[in-house]
Amino acid sequence: MAQKRTVKVAIIGAGMSGLCMAAKLQDAGIHTFTIFEQADEVGGTWRDNSYPGLSCDVPSRFYSYSFHPNPAWSRFMSPGPEIQSYLCSVAEQRGIRSHIRFGTEVSSAQFWEGRWWVVTKDGEEAFDVLITATGVLRVPRYPDIPGLDSFGGPTFHSSRWDHSVLLSDKRIGLIGTGSTGVQITAELGGKVRELTIFQRTPQWVLPTPNLRYSRLTKAAMRRWPALNKLAYRFWQGYIENAVGRAAVEPCWQRGLLAALCRLYLQSVRDRELRRKLTPDYHAMCKRLILAGHYYQALQEPGVDVVTEAIDHVERNGVVTADGRLHQLDLLVLATGFDARAYVRPMRIIGEGGVTLDETWVDGAKAYRSVAVPGYPNLFMLMGPHSPIGNQSLVMVAETQADFAMRWINRIRDGHILAAAPTEAATKDYNEELKAALPQTVWMTGCNSWYLGTDGLPELFPWKPVRHRELLADPDDDDFDVRSA
Ligand code: NAP
Repeated sequence: MAQKRTVKVAIIGAGMSGLCMAAKLQDAGIHTFTIFEQADEVGGTWRDNSYPGLSCDVPSRFYSYSFHPNPAWSRFMSPGPEIQSYLCSVAEQRGIRSHIRFGTEVSSAQFWEGRWWVVTKDGEEAFDVLITATGVLRVPRYPDIPGLDSFGGPTFHSSRWDHSVLLSDKRIGLIGTGSTGVQITAELGGKVRELTIFQRTPQWVLPTPNLRYSRLTKAAMRRWPALNKLAYRFWQGYIENAVGRAAVEPCWQRGLLAALCRLYLQSVRDRELRRKLTPDYHAMCKRLILAGHYYQALQEPGVDVVTEAIDHVERNGVVTADGRLHQLDLLVLATGFDARAYVRPMRIIGEGGVTLDETWVDGAKAYRSVAVPGYPNLFMLMGPHSPIGNQSLVMVAETQADFAMRWINRIRDGHILAAAPTEAATKDYNEELKAALPQTVWMTGCNSWYLGTDGLPELFPWKPVRHRELLADPDDDDFDVRSA
């Protein structure tokens, strides 16, 4: 009988995915893991983002770990700080914090003689398995606008909010109308001296009121945990079968969601403003925005939507292509993230000294979103073509972590030493995936952060259930397996 081994696991990142992986390891009785976290707190995106109006736009019951329900969610869709507290409490309650090396950035990780050598400022350490949990939207994207540095007032990216700046007395310029820009607008519209929104492309918005949960609901959820489970499944069903299906195949759900967006747009009474806000592409082509107060906020006094292109920025404000100077005191850049960064700037070096940058020179590709040929015992959470978009990334992280666990258990049980997907299986999978992309709404003619350098969406082109099926059971024929 095979001898049980001690498996040392390195997890990079203590955000939602990294904590999920840690919890799965604990549940399997594996406590020999270390989480490397460059910041000094857990939470990832929910720690970094703290802009006014920050909220999740996936129902909170479903945007939670299935193994750690939270009866205390205050709203249908949780405010950002509440999610951050939830992640902190998971780390606390499960005793994960003692495994985390805070303030420790991993500069590189190399597979060498059967182990992963992780390099930090403290030196080098060997692990059997490497898990990357570095998030999707981590690296802020700053716009390349002439004169941006010459602006006289404070300027910051939405994910680096400077809370020392008082907002109410300011003329605020907001660049960007993605999910972030919309949430900031919905929160600040009418509450600050002026809010000037620089919109390059209008967005479709699905009207979604964010109702409060009553004390009675919270008490019932606490008293009967089965209710929480039921709610989780209900919202999972809705998100996956309505939004999830509509994104990947032409269906009545796609038409219905588009109709609801058009109907919501009609609530804008001013015809000129409505014209400015009307997109010329299909709803959901860009990530669908869910908001309950956006159009109302845009119609508040002091709020202006500027659709003229930005020409440059100068000391006193933003100058648009028509030569007009928009005088501002504060500039907020809600200009998104580098969604193609993945683990960068960290260097991952696989077999034969090949780097992930070299492997991905023609675009990021993985086996079923989690593993890469030539990189044994490397498992990625939120790797290329993960089912992101309008899905619950918590569910995605759980599915991917469970897949990694199946291999880790086999290593721990002494059955294998290492596994990496074959080139052939990865190629076949990516070809099948590419063939499915034209069906998706993301290719109906718009620009978005979903698109890779080849112009194709780097998303999972099937329904979320297929992702779970694909990762349910490792297919040994698809892997190069080294036995003990
Ligand atoms: P985003 O969707 O990439 O939007 C960036 C915005 O900035 C777009 O409106 C873009 O215009 C504009 N922009 C970029 N460069 C510009 C320039 N040089 N001049 C003028 N405008 C420029 O970024 P985001 O709003 O931060 O959202 C990113 C993602 O984060 C979301 O899609 C979502 O996945 C996630 N998020 C989630 C939530 C949630 O509630 N779950 C909340 C916030 C964010 P174009 O459209 O013309 O490119």
